[in-house]
Amino acid sequence: MSERFFVESPIQSNQAKLVAAEAHHALHVLRAKPGDPLTLFDGSGAEFSARIARTGRQEIDCDVLERREIDRELPGHITLAVALPKGDRQRFLVEKCVELGVAQLIPLVTTRGVAQPTDQALERLRRSVIEASKQCRRNRLMQVAQPLTAKELFTAPPQATQRAVAHPAGTSSLTAWLRQLPVDAHTQRALLCAIGPEGGFTDEELALAQAPTWSIVHLGARILRVETAAASIAATIAAAWQD
Ligand code: SAM
Repeated sequence: MSERFFVESPIQSNQAKLVAAEAHHALHVLRAKPGDPLTLFDGSGAEFSARIARTGRQEIDCDVLERREIDRELPGHITLAVALPKGDRQRFLVEKCVELGVAQLIPLVTTRGVAQPTDQALERLRRSVIEASKQCRRNRLMQVAQPLTAKELFTAPPQATQRAVAHPAGTSSLTAWLRQLPVDAHTQRALLCAIGPEGGFTDEELALAQAPTWSIVHLGARILRVETAAASIAATIAAAWQD
């Protein structure tokens, strides 16, 4: 067994503990036993080879053997502010954002939103981040930030981040917008994109996203679902950076 497991507390010694869902999966699905090797990560960017020292009924003690700094991050910081879709599509959204290297997801509260970012929903999103990170071998967790309203997001003072709203009537394409960003690598590599709900942003919300700090971009001639738009934006930016 060399499965990846997530450890909640930062691994800072040669001991680590699997608890809750991680321990349950190892004990009851994989039938883990003392001596089995495994790979641990704590979301801080490194991964650890380890061995099971002791199994309890609901937790597993591990001996940590080696810390390896393995960076699977993009060469920049993508934040997506997204009006959450309904039900299972939230899991799809998180899964694709994690796989594509998004650094931060901000759940967005919008006038036409169909799913509210309740504490329970945020907890589910964070659990999906861990599941997706285990699968795609990412060692740094995508952050699920506290929700913002569209008004808070669009009127927040600009930081060193370039910002775009995805809207089908955008006058410039996402790729054209990326091409015209300042060459300064510092500003170019911290991007924030906002994605609206199934019914789209209202005109009032869009009016708050004022130039020059916000640009309104389109993603092509077809209307994409929220989660497809998020994946498309992340993949386009990642491809531009990999060039
Ligand atoms: N009828 C809605 C509208 O006109 O905005 C469609 C909403 S779409 C299902 C959900 C969100 O995905 C949009 O608010 C937008 O942020 C993004 N989106 C979907 N397709 C897009 C496209 N072709 N160009 C830009 N953004 C798009």
